Amino acid sequence: MPDCLFCKIIEGKIPATVVHKDEHCLGFLDINPQAPLHALFVPFKHVATLNDATVEDREMLGHLMFAAAKVAREKGFADTGYRTVMNCNREAGQTVFHVHLHLLAGRPMSWPPG
Ligand code: 5GP
Ligand code: ZN
Repeated sequence: MPDCLFCKIIEGKIPATVVHKDEHCLGFLDINPQAPLHALFVPFKHVATLNDATVEDREMLGHLMFAAAKVAREKGFADTGYRTVMNCNREAGQTVFHVHLHLLAGRPMSWPPG
């Protein structure tokens, strides 16, 4: 997807601080962090929103969760806790239309989210 910001980060055309890379996804720090640790896990496959995911994407979507948990563990947040979030479309606050999982950690968080 030529005009997709996250495809460009995956291709290395836009720099990012990478915290994780494997066969399915790239993890990098969010440019506007909402917690002391705020990383995004982005699949190499361009899927615009969770609505566009198919059964073939199930493994990839689960993989994002495992990658986020691994980084949370590595950064020392496994016991204190962390949050994973995937926003879908406007009312949830999705602004980049290439699916991504947020990992937030390092501060107390309230529920329900805003
Ligand atoms: P969304 O709002 O779609 O769930 O999340 C998009 C996230 O991408 C936001 O948290 C935003 O701060 C982050 N973001 C937007 N542009 C860039 C960028 O150029 N680099 C990085 N690392 N993050 C970005
Ligand atoms: Zn993309």
